[in-house]
Amino acid sequence: MIQLKSDRELEKMREAGRHVAETLLSLRKIVKVGMLTQEFNDAATEEIASRKVMSSFLGYGPGGAPPFPAVICTSVNEEIVHGIPGDRRLQNGDILKLDFGVIFEGFHGDSAVSVPVGEIDEEDARLIEATRRSLYAGIEQMRAGQRLGDISNAVQRTAESAGYSVVRDFVGHGIGRDLHEAPKVPNFGPAGRGPRLKVGMVLAVEPMVNRGKPGVDITSDGWTAVTADHERSSHFEHTVAITPDGPEILTHVPGSH
Ligand code: MG
Ligand code: MG
Repeated sequence: MIQLKSDRELEKMREAGRHVAETLLSLRKIVKVGMLTQEFNDAATEEIASRKVMSSFLGYGPGGAPPFPAVICTSVNEEIVHGIPGDRRLQNGDILKLDFGVIFEGFHGDSAVSVPVGEIDEEDARLIEATRRSLYAGIEQMRAGQRLGDISNAVQRTAESAGYSVVRDFVGHGIGRDLHEAPKVPNFGPAGRGPRLKVGMVLAVEPMVNRGKPGVDITSDGWTAVTADHERSSHFEHTVAITPDGPEILTHVPGSH
């Protein structure tokens, strides 16, 4: 688990987070009907080059998975996470999820946002908003002395009380010198359990919330996670440090989610 040893390390994670947040914000602004998901990978690749950072995702392949072939995940509608950018063309009413991470001077930042494409229907707008609220409910628990389960429980209660289900197969995570560090941060479970939260911990909180059931399938590309019932899904993520004053969202800039 990342436990920051100095203000200097926190400063590097702030920088990583800022690059991620600014890039996601600029990508959100270009979303429109008719775009190919590949175009977001092209734009994100340019951002990485001009910012002189490195991709957290490109080539990532834990446990024998094929190396991830892109710098960003683009997941549409029933695709939950880990969608590979390609020739899928965005249509009016789609939900596009952009998930992006970079390394700055050895430290990772990781964030995701759900973006409406054109005019989306009211129920999808409600799903997106409930997912965003569940992220912030989890972050609100990130205070020294709370337990890890308090984050999980707040996310789950917020999503389920809006009438949705949370994905169990993928979870949030510690983050720092590695993209995925201990502990796992599930989006479900009882409050008051798990390790105590301490100042200096940095976690990526990332609810994945479904209109239908929580079940997940992986497509033949080995990466893309889709809902088993093909209902739509939403995903938000922030990288957050626990400070003496409470949670500090490292992947937030004015105007971002
Ligand atoms: Mg992510
Ligand atoms: Mg993550």
